[in-house]
Amino acid sequence: FRHAVFETSVAKPCGLPPALADAPEIAFVGRSNAGKSSALNTLAGHTRLAFVSKTPGRTQLINFFRLPNGVRLVDLPGYGYAAVPEAIRRSWAGLLEHYLKKRENLIGLVMIMDARRPLTELDLQMIDWFAPTANPIHILLSKADKLTRQESAKTLREVRAALEIYGGQISVQLFSSLKKTGIEEAETVVGAWLED
Ligand code: GDP
Repeated sequence: FRHAVFETSVAKPCGLPPALADAPEIAFVGRSNAGKSSALNTLAGHTRLAFVSKTPGRTQLINFFRLPNGVRLVDLPGYGYAAVPEAIRRSWAGLLEHYLKKRENLIGLVMIMDARRPLTELDLQMIDWFAPTANPIHILLSKADKLTRQESAKTLREVRAALEIYGGQISVQLFSSLKKTGIEEAETVVGAWLED
């Protein structure tokens, strides 16, 4: 993930850059405040690769970053801001649904979930939209530093059990941007997607 450079931002499905044959995409999605920007920055070794406005209600965009090997990292808008007007929430959901279901060169989805609050209703919605593509999903249970060792082990077990029905399509790990833990595991899983 090192040396990612910003490519473009889009607000509408029609604005998506062409899906290039030599640019497989790996998307990052999560509930607002789950730690997605921090995780992207941690994995990319940057401090400001992903910097989203923290003002609820601001239009959010899909941000594309390009790696030297051609791979695109795609930062999807965070969902679940209660303060956002219904119409705007619907338009973000439409954009997410379209992208997750239809994007031809999307090879895998990284989902960021706060380890203290995993698998919210909207998280399950994202899984529902993307799982039919049969592409892999990797879940980062973020802010794992906020849980004790015992609590995090229990959460990991429970989330894995809840997703057992998806077989090997969904993998789960603990992650902390603060403590920089879980980086290697995430890189290994996502790196394997690129080799398939
Ligand atoms: P996003 O809205 O999903 O992009 O979330 P951010 O990355 O902006 O993080 C939301 C809040 O959680 C910020 O206050 C971060 O400092 C905090 N945060 C993110 N990652 C971690 C982590 O690994 N550990 C802890 N303790 N806090 C984190």
